[in-house]
Amino acid sequence: MPPDRPVVLGVDGLQALLDALTERGYRVVGPTVRDQAIVYDDVRAQDDLPVGWTDEQDGGRYRLVRRDDDARFGYAVGPHSWKRFLHPPVEPLWRTEGIGDALRVVPAPPPDERFAFIGVRACELHAMAIQDRVFMGGEHVDPGYRARREGAFIVAVNCGQAGGTCFCVSMDAGPKAEAGFDLALTEMVVDGERAYLAEAGSEVGRDVLAGLPQRAATDGDVAEADAVVARTAASMGREMRADDLHDLLTANLEHPRWDAVAERCLACTNCTMVCPTCFCTSVEDATDLATGDASRSRRWDSCFTMDFSYIHGGSVRASTRSRYRQWMTHKLATWHDQFGSSGCVGCGRCITWCPVAIDITEEVRAIRASGPE
Ligand code: SF4
Ligand code: SF4
Repeated sequence: MPPDRPVVLGVDGLQALLDALTERGYRVVGPTVRDQAIVYDDVRAQDDLPVGWTDEQDGGRYRLVRRDDDARFGYAVGPHSWKRFLHPPVEPLWRTEGIGDALRVVPAPPPDERFAFIGVRACELHAMAIQDRVFMGGEHVDPGYRARREGAFIVAVNCGQAGGTCFCVSMDAGPKAEAGFDLALTEMVVDGERAYLAEAGSEVGRDVLAGLPQRAATDGDVAEADAVVARTAASMGREMRADDLHDLLTANLEHPRWDAVAERCLACTNCTMVCPTCFCTSVEDATDLATGDASRSRRWDSCFTMDFSYIHGGSVRASTRSRYRQWMTHKLATWHDQFGSSGCVGCGRCITWCPVAIDITEEVRAIRASGPE
């Protein structure tokens, strides 16, 4: 699709966008403030968004603080990622029904919700593309993921500020949304008013955009939007050299740093739960004692648990050292062998939400500092 000239929406245009998506039958989900964090939930009105809030983030630290303006998207990323909608934490697979002495297996119905995601960051678009390869890129396609993914409408927002743990620039995954969206917005202030430079990335995005109150963007608007992204790119909270990680980590599987990090790591699984690309699951069976009917569901699991690598006779990865090493080397090194890209987009969530502030960029630096050439 040839690029259109961008347009500028006001706050009324933002509200019209939410209304238009609702009228088209989407379940509109976006950032909102709950439990002292910015989380993804249903939004109906533009003031459901985190108006005037931002987040302060560092290793093991997350705080919401007030901004001195009315930005709707003036924060980085929170504990949620879009995988909780596309690849939900618990997904029913099938159940049985008893009919007399016979048993019938009833597959879970296909997903019937179409999501519109508001405020998707560049790193999150990259994370979705990574999960697309995991769930849809091979011989065995996940039907639930595909139905939710292909039905989704994506409104990206270029980041107006970097979080304290962000390093998307190092991973070539942000802060500007380049592809994979239906609409992309850049939040700005023009003549003292909140304004959103809007670009369509798909035919359906163009169609939605055409129905919104807008004005044509001037060269000054486009220059200001570029400046917003450039300022963000220049203020990353973290950085990590990423071009040699495959060889660096696979050459250092016995590095003493794995012992040092294992002394701190609680194997709590937080890092894998918040990571937008981690996808591991287990299956659980349950039986209703009253009816005798059974069901099977899939739930998020983590390579940090002892049980995850359990086979008869014991766990393959019995130590925290081996589990942390598995996670980090998979994420940064062997993911390339398996899926053709890094498994990390530099969103920083695993650093922020680690209760003991283990920092993947710091672990890489430590191994690089004393590993083989
Ligand atoms: S690295 Fe941190 S978040 Fe991850 S399992 Fe260990 S203690 Fe938990
Ligand atoms: S490994 Fe950490 S920084 Fe990388 S994508 Fe996952 S949560 Fe984000």
